[in-house]
Amino acid sequence: MALIFSKRRADGSYRPPLLHRLLTPPVSGNVINGLGDIRRRKATPLYHHDQVEIAWRRVQAWFRLKSFLNLTALKEGMQIGRLQKQPYAELVAEATDQTPAQWSETATEFALANGADLVGIVPLSEEYLVEKYEQPRGRWLIVLGFAMQQPQLQPIVDKGSDNAAATHVLSVYNQASRTAFALANWFRQQGWYASGSRGPAAGALNLIPAALDAGLGELGKHGSLINRRFGSSFRLGYVLTDAAMIATEPDHFGADEFCVGCQVCRRQCPPDAIFDTKQMVRGVEKWYVDFDKCIPYFNDTHGCGICIAACPWSAPGRAEKLVIKMAKRRAKKSSES
Ligand code: SF4
Ligand code: SF4
Repeated sequence: MALIFSKRRADGSYRPPLLHRLLTPPVSGNVINGLGDIRRRKATPLYHHDQVEIAWRRVQAWFRLKSFLNLTALKEGMQIGRLQKQPYAELVAEATDQTPAQWSETATEFALANGADLVGIVPLSEEYLVEKYEQPRGRWLIVLGFAMQQPQLQPIVDKGSDNAAATHVLSVYNQASRTAFALANWFRQQGWYASGSRGPAAGALNLIPAALDAGLGELGKHGSLINRRFGSSFRLGYVLTDAAMIATEPDHFGADEFCVGCQVCRRQCPPDAIFDTKQMVRGVEKWYVDFDKCIPYFNDTHGCGICIAACPWSAPGRAEKLVIKMAKRRAKKSSES
């Protein structure tokens, strides 16, 4: 049984199943991610990538195979698959003229009216590109956020794993795919090239740095975004377009500072994958999660997410209060200095 199921060591720490250890390649995921690397460089595809070769493909295949056992999640996955096969609308020959400010406003309105909860806009930058992929078309990147229902994720924290929660995550990606598809078609019907994310799999874009620049949140100690309304209880999608827009601003509201003194995600993470200090990763010092420790547990539990669900910012109604608390703390500090 230890071949497929994990075990706890005598001291209570997590031990990955033997199969995981057999499937793991000799090269560390942290090395591929650039942990300790002071050079600025593009991210290397490592996990959740279907279109290019990845060193951890056997471990990823095992995760996918195990996911088939969750039948409701499989249904969500099939819906995403059907959407992926749908062609985009024809690109209308005559392009509608709008100012960048008008495109930003109307596209944001459309996205919010069609399922998105957050919208940010940035010019497409080299910084967001992932190695091995061709440069995608589109000069402007619209980053979309989709709220998750934290109470549906809480059982992961309570039980260490929960199939219904994993299904909920996929259903949010399903919504993200529908919204991105609709928004891309909306641009195309007005004569502007656009394409968008179509499912949870990663691709040519590294969305977290783009979402940070676009103002969707700050990076948390658990390696995920923290938003001022939804905490970490949201997922991302995107649309790329040639229509010129106005960039939104990064949002700094104190989450990074809060993380310095908080230990919740570190204590809750079963494989102890969360560093307590920022790490150098591809030339940037930032919060980082130990990939090699996280992934076995992530696979064992159909996607884990304990750190996201347990984060105090994710509790319903809590993020807005913490934003006020951090603003007061900053004001007090500046009055004392
Ligand atoms: S649980 Fe605490 S330390 Fe971890 S990301 Fe959330 S606020 Fe930061
Ligand atoms: S997803 Fe799970 S295993 Fe990975 S860092 Fe978060 S709590 Fe730890």
